[in-house]
Amino acid sequence: MFASSAAPIFRFAPSPTGLIHVGNVRTALLNALLARRAGGTFILRYDDTDVARSREEFAHAIAEDLDWLGIPPDRVERQSARLPIYGAAAERLKAAGRLYPAYETEAELDLKRGLQRARGLPPVYDRAALALTDADRARLEAEGRKPHWRFKLDHRVISWDDGVRGPQNLDTASLSDPVLVREDGTFLYTLCSVVDDLDFGITDVVRGEDHVSNTAVQVEIFEALGGHAPRFAHHNLLTLPSGEGLSKRLGHLSVRALREAGQEALAVAAAAVLVGTSEALAPVESLQALAAKVDLSHISRAPARFDPEELSALTARTLHYLPYEAVAHRLENAGIGGGAAFWLAVRGNLSRFAEALDWWEIVETPRLGLVASEDAEFLAAAGDALPPEPWGADTYGAWIAALKSASGRSGKALFRPLRLALTGQEKGPELAALLPLMGRRRVLARLRGEVG
Ligand code: GLU
Repeated sequence: MFASSAAPIFRFAPSPTGLIHVGNVRTALLNALLARRAGGTFILRYDDTDVARSREEFAHAIAEDLDWLGIPPDRVERQSARLPIYGAAAERLKAAGRLYPAYETEAELDLKRGLQRARGLPPVYDRAALALTDADRARLEAEGRKPHWRFKLDHRVISWDDGVRGPQNLDTASLSDPVLVREDGTFLYTLCSVVDDLDFGITDVVRGEDHVSNTAVQVEIFEALGGHAPRFAHHNLLTLPSGEGLSKRLGHLSVRALREAGQEALAVAAAAVLVGTSEALAPVESLQALAAKVDLSHISRAPARFDPEELSALTARTLHYLPYEAVAHRLENAGIGGGAAFWLAVRGNLSRFAEALDWWEIVETPRLGLVASEDAEFLAAAGDALPPEPWGADTYGAWIAALKSASGRSGKALFRPLRLALTGQEKGPELAALLPLMGRRRVLARLRGEVG
């Protein structure tokens, strides 16, 4: 039974300790798109209880990255604002006999593990602290020791049907009782995460497979706190083309860097979600279209390589594909006019959105027509042959046909001088589409080698 099977609640729970990378964004997108597709809620939860490493600037950057990708959260929560709530949950677990104090130092624990390994045993905590009497504890505390607190596992088989990995079973007898509260009273992620997932009514946890091993423990804590575990799905992780895992700390493939390099948000989203599938290199027209392609049960179990060069190609293909309505506000923000006619004329030539501005300047900013002396006569005649405005759909074709028969030129000899005079470039969008945007006066001036 789930808290709310009608409207699912998903969350993305990064720690704001660095810029998020394309692998983190894979998690964010899967959660956001599945929530959106089901008419549910997408929560951004900052796991910021580590005050030494969490920074406001990173929290801000994460929100900015999600906005840029088009998946702003419906709700934002911060673990650092909820410490008393974790404290109350810890007290409930203590009262239920599920959280017990232990006094071993790291060095003592290391020694125990070493001895276990030497005897061929798994290095699982031996629960020595459970045998302490009140007098033992009083003596340890009189020595100045402070306890950390361990969750007493049930030692039973925990099963869940993982959305990506299928049925999973783990016997918690094979695990150490996890520490949930440190000596200094700070809480560990495992406790905070479960308390939050319960409080926020999370129905679905989609996260990286590095968390599979936490899941059985978390299921026990959900139940010990009187709740039910959400559905879990653990997706594969991304690597660099070399196979090296992505690291937030090392700044690999940060979303900010991809944005600054001019990658399209929609291409980054498509690549992050579809990497490793047969559709990985196909552009999508919208996040909604991308959401329709998400299928957790088809995500591979193997790590997926993320290739930034393929992303550049996908950015170009995405631009070639985007309808005017999808970019109208960005064109306006960049001071680019010309409406749909301009966008449809240039989009096929773009490898980055910013290049649209270069083409707009070519169309719109007065420039000297680039005319080689051997072409001057031909181009002047082409100017004289320009039909009067208004220009219709057939104007360009009729003009070119007239130039062909008058000059005897064709192919490159015909088109190259025209393109150079009008745009100053060897290559570019169809002249048929650019001419009406430039207008007769400008075209005429440039064909004559004047400023227009
Ligand atoms: N803060 C954890 C992480 O970034 C969240 C894991 C989870 O989704 O439960 O790995």
